[in-house]
Amino acid sequence: MFTVTDLKQLVYCPRLVFYAYCWPGVRVAPTAKMVLGREANDAAEAREHRRGLRAYGLREGRREFDLWLESASLNLCGKLDMLIITPGASGDELIPVDYKDSLPEAYRGQRIPAVVRHNWAVQLTAYAMLVEEAYGRPVRRGFVYYIPARRAREVVFDEALRQEVRDSLRRIAAMVAAEQQPPPTPHRRQCAACEYRRLCNDV
Ligand code: SF4
Repeated sequence: MFTVTDLKQLVYCPRLVFYAYCWPGVRVAPTAKMVLGREANDAAEAREHRRGLRAYGLREGRREFDLWLESASLNLCGKLDMLIITPGASGDELIPVDYKDSLPEAYRGQRIPAVVRHNWAVQLTAYAMLVEEAYGRPVRRGFVYYIPARRAREVVFDEALRQEVRDSLRRIAAMVAAEQQPPPTPHRRQCAACEYRRLCNDV
């Protein structure tokens, strides 16, 4: 099975997914900065679990954390940070939430971007599709929660996002089957901080 993280990485740079599946012997050792970042993220997530639902504009709801989801029909799996189950007009509404611990430099304090980064929206849509299959109910919207600002931005799961999830999964499967290295990302600024840079001789 592919993972929801693969979908996010595919949008960021297809080579990240290629290296993970086609060069499995290559392991990039995490830097001290990465390890510290993960530890800080785990601590921040634990704190967010104790907060209420105000950031999502909801008055009531039950929450499930770190929910493992998988679908044989989508050939996809992943761990969702939080699922809110809240009463709606036609029964319980299911709302997936993905935590993000970073904000672009331009955003400080309480400000958050007006639009969720595209690869994050694709990632959240994939979680929504997994939730739909697991619970047998449609999922209309979800939230990206920006931990540094303690604010959330809504994502509506339209057909274009859902189709992108399906197309991306097909693209990953074809890439892995062919074992063909894709071209580098056109956004070369990303390469400066990429942990796989030593494997890319053409950037
Ligand atoms: S160095 Fe650049 S092209 Fe290579 S994997 Fe990283 S982001 Fe992609």
